[in-house]
Amino acid sequence: MVIDMPQLCKSQSCTGCSACANACLKGCIHMNPDSEGFLRPEIQESACIHCGLCEKSCPVLHAVGQWGPEPAKAKAFCVHHQDEAVRFESTSGGVFTALCDWIFRHDGIVFGASFDTSFQVVHMQADGMDAVSKLRTAKYAQSRIGDCFQEIRALLNQGRYVLFSGTPCQIAGLTAYLGREYEKLLLVDVICHGVPSPTVWQEYIRHRSQADAQGAKPIAVNLRSKITGWPNYSVHFVYENGVDYSAPNSADPFMRAFVNNLCLRPSCYDCQFKGITRASDFTMGDYWGVWGQVPAFDDGKGTSLVMVNNEKAMSVWNEVCQLFRYQQVDAASSLADNPSALYSPEEPSCREYFMGNYSNQDFGNLVNSLCPVITPCKRPTWKRFLNLLYRKIHKPE
Ligand SMILES: Cc1cc2nc3c(=O)[nH]c(=O)nc-3n(C[C@H](O)[C@H](O)[C@H](O)COP(=O)(O)OP(=O)(O)OC[C@H]3O[C@@H](n4cnc5c(N)ncnc54)[C@H](O)[C@@H]3O)c2cc1C
Ligand code: SF4
Ligand code: SF4
Ligand code: SF4
Repeated sequence: MVIDMPQLCKSQSCTGCSACANACLKGCIHMNPDSEGFLRPEIQESACIHCGLCEKSCPVLHAVGQWGPEPAKAKAFCVHHQDEAVRFESTSGGVFTALCDWIFRHDGIVFGASFDTSFQVVHMQADGMDAVSKLRTAKYAQSRIGDCFQEIRALLNQGRYVLFSGTPCQIAGLTAYLGREYEKLLLVDVICHGVPSPTVWQEYIRHRSQADAQGAKPIAVNLRSKITGWPNYSVHFVYENGVDYSAPNSADPFMRAFVNNLCLRPSCYDCQFKGITRASDFTMGDYWGVWGQVPAFDDGKGTSLVMVNNEKAMSVWNEVCQLFRYQQVDAASSLADNPSALYSPEEPSCREYFMGNYSNQDFGNLVNSLCPVITPCKRPTWKRFLNLLYRKIHKPE
């Protein structure tokens, strides 16, 4: 008798969430990089017992939760963390740190994306604020989930609180994998533009280290450094030989490849997980457009937009909101300058050329030849100048 192998979702739609690999009790699904460096499940046929758990856990095959454009039930807030040092180290306004603070007060564990020692992006757990510093700042390459979903289920079954933060498709993967609701699980997604290839990111690190530091290893990397402010953030590398590199995001070749969609995962170009209505408890993003919408919060040091998506999240919000300066805003209009929340990025016609050539041509020259137009931040220039001046006088402690 011929037994059919499990049918996971189509390759083009696979988000690499790793739910299927976490679900397989026989350990016969391995997440391996494809030719572009994106992880994809590979099933070891000889070990498969045809239980179907992997198929049941795939969020692309089985829609879980709610995503879409329905009128928002969410309440939206414009937010600054009151602790200026936290805000300086955070991508936008520091919402994530405040939610971690709440979890630790409940003896819980936080999961989020960190750089490992080679600056690959991996999901890991944090059991206190020291470890949270590694999870802060957005890392623009797809993170490797590893066994995190199994660890989360074990912690929840022990009665622990858990916060999982990640892209909306990772939230969908975890939700489908768990297959039931847990009162003590807090799901926090980011507004997600898309995720670049981990291999392109590794090649860029190699390129940078050759160009800047004669091949020396980087010891710190920040793709959202606020040394030039928040709206016009910088990319910052520090190398072991003391050299450092800093460039505004609009001039850095990797960030230009990212925002021009040259190296995103194929599933990102037709993302099923965007929308105002979300399956997470909280959604957090940069409050792009705050300068026009809530000018009182536009100080150039980072503003978060946070969506409180349900009753559970609202009760947490009521306990953490004293850590913020905040103002409630209309959920739908707050996204006017943030298309990534609602719409998939467009796949450029030169993507294939870029993906076929980034490793055999000069990275910077290739990006320049494919996307010569630099998209400046829409924030008025005089405001940026005043903020730079202000920051020079008032450096954070
Ligand atoms: C790949 C990516 C694309 C994004 N695109 C947009 C966008 O288009 N518009 C927008 O408004 N906001 C976007 N964001 C979200 C935004 O940059 C901030 O992460 C968010 O505003 C939280 O702000 P914070 O100050 O609280 O963050 P921080 O304290 O700096 O926390 C950063 C959070 O991002 C998570 N994270 C970091 N890197 C990754 C990764 N590679 N994969 C999964 N999770 C990760 C961390 O676990 C942490 O929870 C994106 C984030 C990521 C990771
Ligand atoms: S059908 Fe069961 S054993 Fe086979 S790969 Fe899927 S989860 Fe593993
Ligand atoms: S569960 Fe995730 S990684 Fe596995 S096939 Fe589905 S989308 Fe891909
Ligand atoms: S754009 Fe969609 S598919 Fe791509 S990483 Fe973000 S949530 Fe996942």
